[in-house]
Amino acid sequence: FPAFVSMSAVYDDERRITNMVAVFSDITEIKEAQSKIERHANYDTLTDLPNRRLFTDRLQQAILRSARNNEKLCLMFLDLDRFKDVNDTLGHEFGDELLRQMALRIRHCVREVDTVARLGGDEFTIILSAVEIKSHAVHIAQKLIHEIEQPITIKEQTLRVTTSIGVTFYPDDAIDAGMLIQNADRSMYAAKDMGGSAFKFYTSELESSWRSRTFIINELEAAIEKGELEVFYQPLIAVNTEDTCISAEALVRWQHPVRGLISPTEFLPQAERMGMIEKIDDFVFSQVCRQIKDWQLRGLGDVHVSVNRSAHNFANQRGRLDWLAFIEQQGIDASLITLEITESALMQRHAEGRHLLKRLRQADVQIAVDDFGTGYSSLSYLKEMDVDYLKIDRSFIRDLEIDENDRAIIEAITGMARHLGIEVIAEGVETESQRDILQQIGCQWLQGYFFSKPLSVADFERFIEQGVFARPELEKRSDSR
Ligand code: C2E
Ligand code: CA
Ligand code: CA
Repeated sequence: FPAFVSMSAVYDDERRITNMVAVFSDITEIKEAQSKIERHANYDTLTDLPNRRLFTDRLQQAILRSARNNEKLCLMFLDLDRFKDVNDTLGHEFGDELLRQMALRIRHCVREVDTVARLGGDEFTIILSAVEIKSHAVHIAQKLIHEIEQPITIKEQTLRVTTSIGVTFYPDDAIDAGMLIQNADRSMYAAKDMGGSAFKFYTSELESSWRSRTFIINELEAAIEKGELEVFYQPLIAVNTEDTCISAEALVRWQHPVRGLISPTEFLPQAERMGMIEKIDDFVFSQVCRQIKDWQLRGLGDVHVSVNRSAHNFANQRGRLDWLAFIEQQGIDASLITLEITESALMQRHAEGRHLLKRLRQADVQIAVDDFGTGYSSLSYLKEMDVDYLKIDRSFIRDLEIDENDRAIIEAITGMARHLGIEVIAEGVETESQRDILQQIGCQWLQGYFFSKPLSVADFERFIEQGVFARPELEKRSDSR
């Protein structure tokens, strides 16, 4: 056992040593505590992987070694996609177990000598030493994406998570640890902005696009105040239904004074990360209510509008506009508004989320499940939540003409929805034959470039005036936007 030894000499009268006395104390416990503290300081308690501190240390050492041996080194930055949604909907315990299992999967994808660390949350890093060729890194990144995407079952819940990976090299991209980490992190965000489930190598172009995105973020807040955000309307066309009402989805655009029209996919992900999405959603919503009122007053009729509400902080009311109160204040019929939310918002465990949805429903606001088929697709909540519409995600429509599976899926969704008294909207309809198939299957609503792109208010009014909404046989609409 480890011992602490103290020795003292025993002298006689003439100061000669006669004996030595050794006192041993067992310090096993102290040693154990010490190593625990050390572990705690260097390893993540949840996954047992090195933490940020040890990772930084190892990265610095790895850089020195690579410099000495004249070798390359590869750093990967991994972040699970939409992990926050999983945590919010399925609970923290579930989230923890997911992270533990993902940590194991990541470990299995690399060699024993490579460092896998968890920096916190759902962020992981990997140091691959002596990786000489990029194709090797590509191979590993692909393997990681593939492994992580395999379905995972925890507490009888099966789901699939995806990951975004940023990749950078020493000494090609940077020579110090801090810059390498920053590069990898930025590349990871670029992969996320590509829609996730992707990896991206660091490039110098990425640097300039990063600068422009920081620029976007800095300007976005002021843009709302300056009235640079504009709401466009994309028509929803009723087929297979008696309804001939005028219906559209409100989609936000940023009319930038220098950069021109910026698409929401370019600024909403950042807005979400910065906690500004609520402000944007509230702005769009209030704009839509005023517009509906204005159309009524000007005699264009009752226009039904679908508004998107981000799942991020879905139910958090602090500092937010009270949508129901606003509808009332504007004096419009609540049933003219449809709330489009994703499955993850619908499934939120928090009582507030459920409560908010209930309140909206009771007031007659319609609920549509957006991007249906891409999330958990747990059907039990549909019955429970009593929604009005399912919007089948564009990815199922895209290959409809060639992919038998997609057709079967849409048929199944439509059949099930009919059974539950829910109407189906197909989005992303681009061709005539897609329209024909969807009509045949029995989807009630169609939306897509085949009919019209999202239109400015003036263009949308022109669209209404052409009488397209009232016409039973629909021709392809052309427009220049
Ligand atoms: P989304 O809710 O799924 O909206 C549909 C998107 O598909 C729109 O993109 C629309 O322009 C596009 N689209 C419509 N028809 C077609 C088609 O036939 N082919 C193709 N390829 N695309 C089609 P957009 O306007 O760029 O919006 C992207 C996403 O941004 C929306 O996806 C929505 O998630 C989000 N978004 C837009 N406005 C808002 C908003 O006010 N609040 C929130 N929270 N999200 C918004
Ligand atoms: Ca939508
Ligand atoms: Ca959608």
